[in-house]
Amino acid sequence: MKYVSTRSKIEPINSAEAILQGLSEDGGLFVPESIPKISLAEIEKLVDLNYPQRATAILKNFLTDYSDDELAECAELAYDWFDVVSKVPLSILVQDTNNPKFPVGVLELWHGPTSAFKDMALQMLPRLMRKAMKKTGEQREILILTATSGDTGKAALAGFADVPQTKIMVFYPDGGVSKIQRLQMVTQTGKNVNVVAVRGNFDDTQTGVKKIFSDEKIRAELEKSNVKLSSANSINWGRLVPQIVYYFSGYAEFIKAKQIKNGDQVNIAVPTGNFGNILAAYYAKKMGLPVKKILCASNINHVLTDFFKSGTYNRKLPFHKTISPSMDILISSNLERLLYHETDGDFKRVKNFMQELNDKGKYKIDNSLKKKLDKIFYADFATEEDTKKMIKETFDNFKYLVDTHTAVALSIVAKYRRETKDLLPILVASTASPYKFTGAVLDALGENIEGLDDFAQLDRLNLKTGRPIPKNLASLDSAKILHDTVCDKDEMSDLVLKFAAE
Ligand SMILES: *Cc1c(COP(=O)(O)O)cnc(C)c1O
Repeated sequence: MKYVSTRSKIEPINSAEAILQGLSEDGGLFVPESIPKISLAEIEKLVDLNYPQRATAILKNFLTDYSDDELAECAELAYDWFDVVSKVPLSILVQDTNNPKFPVGVLELWHGPTSAFKDMALQMLPRLMRKAMKKTGEQREILILTATSGDTGKAALAGFADVPQTKIMVFYPDGGVSKIQRLQMVTQTGKNVNVVAVRGNFDDTQTGVKKIFSDEKIRAELEKSNVKLSSANSINWGRLVPQIVYYFSGYAEFIKAKQIKNGDQVNIAVPTGNFGNILAAYYAKKMGLPVKKILCASNINHVLTDFFKSGTYNRKLPFHKTISPSMDILISSNLERLLYHETDGDFKRVKNFMQELNDKGKYKIDNSLKKKLDKIFYADFATEEDTKKMIKETFDNFKYLVDTHTAVALSIVAKYRRETKDLLPILVASTASPYKFTGAVLDALGENIEGLDDFAQLDRLNLKTGRPIPKNLASLDSAKILHDTVCDKDEMSDLVLKFAAE
């Protein structure tokens, strides 16, 4: 399988090169030349495999320049960290007790080392990268630079810590992340990690990092110390491809739990931000997983709902900070890959869309393309009230606790079923432990959180619901602080150069 760019005709490259390069030089994203097919017989075989084995069976179709053994090794090591035997448990809820045949399967993607679904991919990416370096003969050290508003930074740190021939440096806005998010990052161990607070907000931090990436002088300087810059952003194919696995795994779990028979159609719902997770569901469907509709769930930053409903992508909506912050995004980068595939690889058109988005802040797709997307996707958004209500209802009805992002998806599932009467079994991507958004979850359950600090909130939620606090969060209180550098925006590049030279 070779990889090409979404924006121009390039010489096709192997997956190892695509993973190391991250972004194509023309600004496009790497996509597979074609989408491989999986038969029902192959899906049947997944049922009796464990998660790393399932990952190997799916990934080998895309990463054909990796051997099965290499993929198995990457997957074993990546998912060894997860705190449950099944790695991704499926909790089955039956919303309509008159219709027990139409279950909602909540796919818990957050049992990794940082309790965020980003672990699913960020535990794999460094391992795939490391193998890619060997394959391509890359001699330089790779320095991963990331600006984070909270979750991605920690998941990336945990993934890259002590991975040979790599270094990782994470910048976060000083005072702009929660106490727990900060502690998760500043207590990160590993010889190759560095965490720095920036005086400013997230935009300042991100702009600072972007500047470093596009600064020729810094690149030349780094080249001298034999260092290549890279990012752990979700536009990297190595971050996207591991996500395709869990939809197959969820389907296999549905079969195992006797909720469906192999070959039965299901729907999938995904709380969406950058369009990475949901695009993985699209790839699974295109590969042959029996999926009827994919539900794109947004919060009140509803650019994607507008896009799917109207055919116009307009990023110039007002930006809202919400209780599901990982979905507070107005530019969903991975949508570009969907446009590429659904225009049958028409990179000129995709490039024009992206140019218009850049120049005018919006673009419009034609009717025939819109109709194609309508067949695959349903889109809607949840208000803050909808989200809180869903957390409370799900807990009251099922004694099942969900975080704010998962609640957005569940709320769209309810809307979809009401509107369309389509009650097919549905897999819902659950993207964070409720303990990562404790304050909002407690508030939704009707608890008064005034005066409770982050750790007191963990205890309160545990007392109220009886759900265990993830160990990695509970132990933070006593973990040693290892990173205490705070810098100004204009000091960031110097710190990067200094760290690269260490
Ligand atoms: C990143 C994230 C999302 C959004 O996923 P995308 O792949 O960016 O669409 C949803 N929920 C949580 C908790 C996340 O961290």
